[in-house]
Amino acid sequence: MSQYYIWTIGCQMNKAESERLGSYLEQLGYRATATAEEADFIVLNSCVVRQSAENRVINKLNALKSLKRLRPNLTLAVTGCLVNSEVDQLRQSFPYVDYFFKPGDYPQWMVKKAESVPVLPRHPSPCTFVPIIQGCDNFCSYCIVPYRRGRERSRRVEEIACEVKELVHRGVKEVTLLGQNVDSYGHDLPDKPDLADLLNELNAIDGLARIRFLTNHPKDMSPRLIEAIAYLDKVCEQISLPVQSGNNEILKAMRRGYTVEQYYQLVTQIRSKIPGVALSTDVIVGFPSESPLQFQQTVNLLTELRFDTVHVAAYSPRSGTIASRKFEDNIPATEKRERLNKIEQLQENIATEINAQLLGRTVEVLVDGKKKGKWQGRTQSGKLVFFSDNGNYLGQLMKIRIEKTSPWSLQGKVKADSAD
Ligand code: SF4
Repeated sequence: MSQYYIWTIGCQMNKAESERLGSYLEQLGYRATATAEEADFIVLNSCVVRQSAENRVINKLNALKSLKRLRPNLTLAVTGCLVNSEVDQLRQSFPYVDYFFKPGDYPQWMVKKAESVPVLPRHPSPCTFVPIIQGCDNFCSYCIVPYRRGRERSRRVEEIACEVKELVHRGVKEVTLLGQNVDSYGHDLPDKPDLADLLNELNAIDGLARIRFLTNHPKDMSPRLIEAIAYLDKVCEQISLPVQSGNNEILKAMRRGYTVEQYYQLVTQIRSKIPGVALSTDVIVGFPSESPLQFQQTVNLLTELRFDTVHVAAYSPRSGTIASRKFEDNIPATEKRERLNKIEQLQENIATEINAQLLGRTVEVLVDGKKKGKWQGRTQSGKLVFFSDNGNYLGQLMKIRIEKTSPWSLQGKVKADSAD
């Protein structure tokens, strides 16, 4: 039997696509293998969101060139964000790669062989990702995604609902709907449904316990969506809302399309409508010309709004983006590192305090796997919980009494009569 190996880097979108691609290949008769060296078919599912990620992909491709030389029958394919509209150029640079294809746009021989075979994982995890919109129309000045993933393309509500029903049939309890900007969902479809419509439809699916979604865009998150999250019982009270900076000039240079004041208003609105909501955000430090005062404004925003999670990155210019053409990368690396450390330390303290409030409380956890001998799962608000117990709890909703907290996760014990 032929064997395949998929090397995936990047975001959840890529992971979801690799899972589907793996399932597709298995339905074509391939079997997964643990190492690229053993495989007959290798796929690189690439991420190029940062220059360093693109460099890793190129290095991997160069390493595979020798493997292909040793084993000419090996089939090599590349998908993901590296595959832009200039495929001919990619073919010239990497002539030993057999196929370049955009995510989900499988080569003809695969499609012909599979006919109408569904690409859903046969044995999905209880918590599974479901892409709902590809691409992005926003062109934030630092971001390469719109150039690589193209314009927004939404999948139809009926198609997604049908897929989620089938996933539930295969054992899935929780879906995370994915998109670069889920708040844009549906604007390109005939009846212009929005994310609230989609959530309503999915909330009615029997057997599905939870629905999450990411990532939101502060300029596009509507009051209608906030209402839907508040009243739909299966929709988790967890929102990812990247702010990127606490200074309006920097936000303008980033082309984010909102002001700090509008962001505060949105958070206030969300928190008043959805009590107990867990908010996470993303921040870039050291954007070109970010002054110490402008950075301090970001620190102030994070201190005041107290997010459950903050993902912080130091700015690095990405060739092909507006920022790389227009602005000089003029904040020294040591300064960027200091700013990043400062935010990480601040957030560690905030998350320590927020999570400590759960000590002694009982939370509901959907168990999605085991790590280092302990069961793990997440609460409705997305907190990671570990517990030890001999039973088999995979895919079950368990009541766990929290006995230990840290900024990153919680630990607890099964409460009697806990299983669903
Ligand atoms: S919203 Fe901005 S940061 Fe997010 S993918 Fe689109 S362009 Fe990139």
